[in-house]
Amino acid sequence: MNEDCIFCKIANGVIPTDFVYQNEYVVAFKDINPKASTHILVIPKEHYASLNELDNDKILLELFKGVKETAKKLNLESYRTVINTGKGAGQEVFHIHAHILSGKVLPKF
Ligand code: 5GP
Ligand code: ZN
Repeated sequence: MNEDCIFCKIANGVIPTDFVYQNEYVVAFKDINPKASTHILVIPKEHYASLNELDNDKILLELFKGVKETAKKLNLESYRTVINTGKGAGQEVFHIHAHILSGKVLPKF
């Protein structure tokens, strides 16, 4: 756990959060500032700042499985998955996360 990381605090229950999906490796929760009618973030419980720092293939696999399982649990037929890597790409929170965006109007992201 990285003490300065807001998503570590969410994943470890320091900030109480309703998880829409969770398993041994990941948690999924609603984005605080949704860009689509459904906007979920899926994060590994372990801290990795971004995709570039994610050097654990098991966690990489589990992150994508977590996306699929979250979409399944929410009955999302269609959805977009986005991972921003680095400030230049708009990454704001440096704990890797996959966005799940779904809904009638899906904005460009
Ligand atoms: P990024 O731009 O890093 O890819 O995405 C970060 C996302 O995290 C943004 O969509 C932002 O709205 C969301 N976010 C930032 N802080 C919090 C928080 O404390 N709680 C939740 N649920 N979402 C957050
Ligand atoms: Zn973290």
